[in-house]
Amino acid sequence: MTSPDIRAQLGLRPIINVSGTMTALGASIVVPEAVAAVAAILSQFVEIDDLQRKASAVIARLCAAEAGFVTASCAAAITVGVAGAMTGDNLPAIERLPDATGLKDEVVILAGHMVSYGAPVEQGIRLTGGKVVPVGQATSARRYQLEGAINARTAAAVYVVSHHVVQYGMIPLADFAEIAHAKGVPVLVDAASEYDLRGFLAAGADLALYSSHKFLGGPTGGIVAGRKGLVRAAYLQNGGIGRGMKVGKEGIAGTIAALQAWEQRDHAAVRAAETRALALWMQTLAARPGVTASLEPDPTNNPLDRLRLTLDPQEAHITAWDFADRLANGTTPVIVRDHEIEHGFFYMDPCNLHPGEAAVVAQRLAEELDRSQASNEVVASSFGERRARRYRRMRSWPD
Ligand SMILES: *Cc1c(COP(=O)(O)O)cnc(C)c1O
Repeated sequence: MTSPDIRAQLGLRPIINVSGTMTALGASIVVPEAVAAVAAILSQFVEIDDLQRKASAVIARLCAAEAGFVTASCAAAITVGVAGAMTGDNLPAIERLPDATGLKDEVVILAGHMVSYGAPVEQGIRLTGGKVVPVGQATSARRYQLEGAINARTAAAVYVVSHHVVQYGMIPLADFAEIAHAKGVPVLVDAASEYDLRGFLAAGADLALYSSHKFLGGPTGGIVAGRKGLVRAAYLQNGGIGRGMKVGKEGIAGTIAALQAWEQRDHAAVRAAETRALALWMQTLAARPGVTASLEPDPTNNPLDRLRLTLDPQEAHITAWDFADRLANGTTPVIVRDHEIEHGFFYMDPCNLHPGEAAVVAQRLAEELDRSQASNEVVASSFGERRARRYRRMRSWPD
């Protein structure tokens, strides 16, 4: 980076992100094309409906969809998408939401898909005034359960594709869509973090919903793509409950640029750089006492591998969470992917690295492992305490 680091100006820690595209860490490195588009449009007046028409054409081309638009986030896309399925283009109904009186207001979703991506998926549905109807159990869902859950009041069926959801025992999307369509119910797919821009519509989704700021490297935004009538009904929510989820001109122009850049991106070169980072870390971790490292493909088939690092606290002299906390401290904080760390392992995601950062991460791994190894005590703080500390910190913000 040549420009001075704005984080120093703001008094923020210069973190290195090996956690993934996390909203709480600033999502992703916005691609230069999107940065330029955002900067170029900020000082101009535009007719937003026309800008969104341009976005629709680009989204339609990349997603093989009839139409699309940009909204504030994928979370917003879920809400306005479901709202559109409830109201259609009925403007008084749009202005009445979340009072859904007289509208179809039930939304089916597999119980195994009712996860939190930072907020509960189902809350984004309930914001419309719609009622969530869970289908099946946490780890299983069957055709007859979905068929039985759909009735004359069903407005939409929501399907989530994500590493967060239960990855087994669910109804495949194509079957889910076939069952919903047989009963005249549209299918919305939350594909916030999925690289595949076409597969979900091709598998039968009526709307596919993405984040602009994740794999695409766009500014904060969400993408709605799919059938024109439903896209329009979702778009019209901007005059209703969608207003509080407004995307600005910079979000729209930046998303258009990010999508165009995605088409041009040398995906093989990006993958090769990620593979080099993973290989360097594997090499750094090899033959260290109590350390097991392996590579794992992304659970939803995104073209991305992550390194899984498991620690045997007796051998490594430190638990996985204490190790992660040490990495996250110091002058070069490294933030790892720690959703399952109570099991004694964490992941390292190579998809958000600036040039040179992979080597810094390797150095930090070696430093901290050496330090633990050299000490005779086993660092093993209580995991429950760590969790409690995090909640206390969250609830005491901004202190
Ligand atoms: C990130 C994510 C969201 C939310 O996306 P935003 O664009 O950040 O609002 C929704 N669903 C899933 C599965 C996600 O991973």
